[in-house]
Amino acid sequence: MSAERSVEVLVVGAGPAGSVSARHAARAGARTLIIEKRQEIGSPVRCGEGIARAWLEELGIRPDKRWISHEVKGARIISPAGHVVTLTEKLAGNECGYVIKRDEFDRTLAEEAADAGAEVMVKTSAVGVIREGGRVAGVRARHMGELIDIHAKVVIGADGFESQLGRWAGIDTSLKPSDINVCFEYTLKGVDINPDFNDFYIGSCAPGGYIWVFVKGPDSANVGIGVQLSKIRPGERGAAKRYLDAFIAKHPELAKGSPIREIAGAVSCCQPLESVVADGIMLVGDAARQIDPLTGGGVANACRAGRVAGEVAAEAARTGDASRQFLQKYERGWRRIFEDQMYRNWMAKEKLVTLSDETFDKACEVLASAELERVNTIEILRLIQKKYPELVKEFEDLIH
Ligand SMILES: Cc1cc2nc3c(=O)[nH]c(=O)nc-3n(C[C@H](O)[C@H](O)[C@H](O)COP(=O)(O)OP(=O)(O)OC[C@H]3O[C@@H](n4cnc5c(N)ncnc54)[C@H](O)[C@@H]3O)c2cc1C
Repeated sequence: MSAERSVEVLVVGAGPAGSVSARHAARAGARTLIIEKRQEIGSPVRCGEGIARAWLEELGIRPDKRWISHEVKGARIISPAGHVVTLTEKLAGNECGYVIKRDEFDRTLAEEAADAGAEVMVKTSAVGVIREGGRVAGVRARHMGELIDIHAKVVIGADGFESQLGRWAGIDTSLKPSDINVCFEYTLKGVDINPDFNDFYIGSCAPGGYIWVFVKGPDSANVGIGVQLSKIRPGERGAAKRYLDAFIAKHPELAKGSPIREIAGAVSCCQPLESVVADGIMLVGDAARQIDPLTGGGVANACRAGRVAGEVAAEAARTGDASRQFLQKYERGWRRIFEDQMYRNWMAKEKLVTLSDETFDKACEVLASAELERVNTIEILRLIQKKYPELVKEFEDLIH
């Protein structure tokens, strides 16, 4: 026998996608419950913790000392031969930002959901969906060994990269190996870094991805790597860590640091999925593969999509219509905000993963010495064309 309860909006997963969804559903008046399988929201952290400022303003999330570790003045892209392209605040504007404490950040978002009226249950795992008349009508969950059937007018699946909600609901969220980057990261204490910049190392040090050095404090940094799964031999384990260890060994300023945290995980780097809803359910954040395919950053899109999902869920609960057709409102909403950018960045990633170290060096050499007015793809391609026309041959249509 399982216990029964019912709510209007049920959110599975209290990461950024889930908490922002729940906050907006509750704020719009829906009886909302979030269930989270972990005992403590936000822990353990699985993130490089780098975020831009721009979208925080967009969502009305006030920067808070409680979850900010460090604010940077810009970013640097470093080629295999060491050419450094500096993206200052003047160039990148609000794309510059913070290195955060993801555990505190996630807890803050969950508290805001609770403040808006959402109920939060931790140590509660979704173990399957409840179906009624072919539609998703809730979730079966396990809490402290007990099964609970939670009936809901609408379910929001915000259960992250390893999402099962999508699969249970029959939404195809499968990924090709070329659309997955496996990640490994250390937080290193006692390193020598320039605290003004987050650094990105590109080229064969991280096949199909990059290495990041994100400043946590004056002498500490998150040093991590993403490597495209299709560039790793089938069955090879620990490849991302090996690439990262080899890189750190060649950088004495990092090698002198002590690891105080290790993280392994994966991100999707795919183009936008065709559909992330079914009757009675919407997927949000990593569960919906909404990560930026170029940077692997997913917190911003998770929150942006979460707001739309929460608002649409409350409306569906109010009108009693949570059909796939009604939930297209959510599909249209998130796609209007970031589908184009996601698609463009996926195209750019598809090209970048084919480039050699020599090409990265030439491109960065040109950009390192150029007086860029702003970060603009066409301007960048034009600058490269002046010195190395062969590198941008296939983009000629774009440039003219
Ligand atoms: C190594 C690494 C570095 C990254 N660095 C960055 C970065 O620097 N900047 C950035 O923007 N993004 C980064 N990302 C991506 C970012 O972490 C994700 O995009 C972001 O966490 C997505 O939020 P989410 O809410 O969709 O999913 P998550 O944050 O994964 O939250 C999902 C939640 O659902 C819960 N859950 C899962 N299954 C169930 C279940 N069955 N029942 C109940 N609860 C469940 C989980 O416990 C979790 O709390 C990184 C990812 C990795 C792996």
